Amino acid sequence: MTDAIVVPPSLNLSGDIVVATGNQGKVAELARLLAQLPVNLRPQSEFNVIAAEETGLTFVENAILKARAVAAQTGLPALADDSGLEVDALLGAPGVRSARYAQGSDGDDEANKDKLLETMANVPDGARQARFHCVLVLLRHPNDPVPLIAQGRWEGIILREPQGNGGFGYDPLFFVPSHGLSAAELDPAQKNAISHRGLAAADMLALLGQRRE
Ligand code: IMP
Repeated sequence: MTDAIVVPPSLNLSGDIVVATGNQGKVAELARLLAQLPVNLRPQSEFNVIAAEETGLTFVENAILKARAVAAQTGLPALADDSGLEVDALLGAPGVRSARYAQGSDGDDEANKDKLLETMANVPDGARQARFHCVLVLLRHPNDPVPLIAQGRWEGIILREPQGNGGFGYDPLFFVPSHGLSAAELDPAQKNAISHRGLAAADMLALLGQRRE
């Protein structure tokens, strides 16, 4: 049996890239963060993509699974992100399960925050360190043996009660020592400049620059 023939993709990525997310907000945010690239980011919803199951144990694995599924179904390069919160006192939880930590429906932010607060009720103030991670993966085609893998990390401390109304997910529980505010109290531009997602996007730009050289 021979392998399927894959059309060699251009090394110089210009043109359409499909973003492996059903979340229109994420597509818009990534488009803004990667605005200087000569590419057109298109949501997977334009292609009736069946999303990959996130069965990986790491952010990197899940981002690759998502990007590969999209590249395979669209025939275009694919960009995927995976992100989440790592809490030291919980040995890394909620980790790759951040969106579904409370066992409820995926993305139930209120239930997830309540579970985090309850689980950490007895963790003393000096031991509440945590960080958000974001991994961005770019695959030129489904069999790309050299995915570009960009990463960003954002350090903080888990509060004892929610603070602030902005952002999403665990933002109201994530205290940012450098600003003396929770992530939910930062305005979006401030957050993008220092957050795991903003740093991962900057890392991806740097990697693409290296590949073009
Ligand atoms: P993903 O869409 O699979 O990457 O889900 C990541 C999950 O991690 C989200 O549902 C949130 O619970 C959490 N998360 C990731 N980034 C952030 C952030 O910037 N603020 C708050 N929560 C986040």
